[in-house]
Amino acid sequence: MENNIELNTPKSLRIHIGIFGRTNVGKSTLVNYISGQDTSIVSSIAGTTTDSVYKSMELSPLGPVTLIDTAGIDDISDLSKERIERTTKVFDSTDVAIIVLEQNVWTEYEKNIIQQLNDKNTPFMFVINNYKKEQLSTDFTKNFSQYKFIETELSQKKEYREHFLATLKQHLLSIISEDVLNLQPLTQNIIKSFQTVVMVVPLDLGAPKGRLILPQVQMIRACLDINAIVIITKETELKQTLERLKDKPDIVICDSQVVKKVLDIIPKDVAFTTFSIIFSSNKSDFKTMLEGIKAIKNLKPESKVLIAEACSHHASKDDIGRVKIPKLLSKYLGFDIKFDVSSGMDYPKNLEQYSLIIHCGGCMINKKQMISRLNYAVNKNVPITNYGMVISFVNNTLDRVIQPFIKNI
Ligand code: SF4
Repeated sequence: MENNIELNTPKSLRIHIGIFGRTNVGKSTLVNYISGQDTSIVSSIAGTTTDSVYKSMELSPLGPVTLIDTAGIDDISDLSKERIERTTKVFDSTDVAIIVLEQNVWTEYEKNIIQQLNDKNTPFMFVINNYKKEQLSTDFTKNFSQYKFIETELSQKKEYREHFLATLKQHLLSIISEDVLNLQPLTQNIIKSFQTVVMVVPLDLGAPKGRLILPQVQMIRACLDINAIVIITKETELKQTLERLKDKPDIVICDSQVVKKVLDIIPKDVAFTTFSIIFSSNKSDFKTMLEGIKAIKNLKPESKVLIAEACSHHASKDDIGRVKIPKLLSKYLGFDIKFDVSSGMDYPKNLEQYSLIIHCGGCMINKKQMISRLNYAVNKNVPITNYGMVISFVNNTLDRVIQPFIKNI
């Protein structure tokens, strides 16, 4: 049972290991070699020939990881333009990279990969697929000898694979940054052991049938991990819930959409925030997102706002990003503005046309990718904020929901 919990770790919480290298250099062989029979592969999503392939597995002691078998980008045919774009996107989410080298081959391609990884502050190591067992030239080895590397022929012999895996994990552990290895818990320092946490979860049209949404589930688990006491209720039963508690709760966390209703019920001296604010504090740059809110006051009727969804999800008829936020914002401003929606990994190419980006909570992507998306906006001088902050701002409750985090920013 315990293993199942580990194996079901959401992709957003897994260490993303990008495998880069020329076409046919042995990237897929390496991925298959790492995720061999001795390990537990829990999912494998193969795309088209131009897609990267994601494999999730346990790689103890690193924990749950996602291996990304990237498409080679050294092919300069027309077909490869799409491949190049897709592979370039992988750099955004890669926490640590393995560059697979062909023996005695070092060109602009390898230099370019290293450059892109350095630009993102992504640590990397090399695997030299020495399947022909030729002598490696000094000219070749001087390019990577200062980094961690393994020379291998990806043998299928069990004892050899075990040795290879042990070395690979040791190298990866030595280069992965501490904050990736030990993700800050969602409880951060706003919730402590044995405190009482009341979570208010509306079950409106947007709620999936028969289950809670991922941010709510992750927050419950984070609280249980530190032995906090969790009480979950809908906004309609919140008053009765509080009446039945002997003491006031230490904190109330609610969905952004019911902030006003909840604030009408809870005592003024109880700490209060939203799931969305917690995620933006934990997963992105809280200060930048908060700064982005100021752009709302500068919006004009001709302004364009981008609603950025990090995944393509099924939008309900009262979808928070596509329907509720545009309505709330237009009402607050007193005029209509144009909203575009981007869904999935890609932003629109001409990001500069937007006066503001309002990003979703990014529950399906890892922190590295969230920060990459934020940096694209910052580098184009486009203010960026998120759903939770916008909803709280237009409801005049932003000061209250960010209060628990103020001392940390
Ligand atoms: S759109 Fe964003 S917040 Fe919504 S499910 Fe996708 S990643 Fe999560």
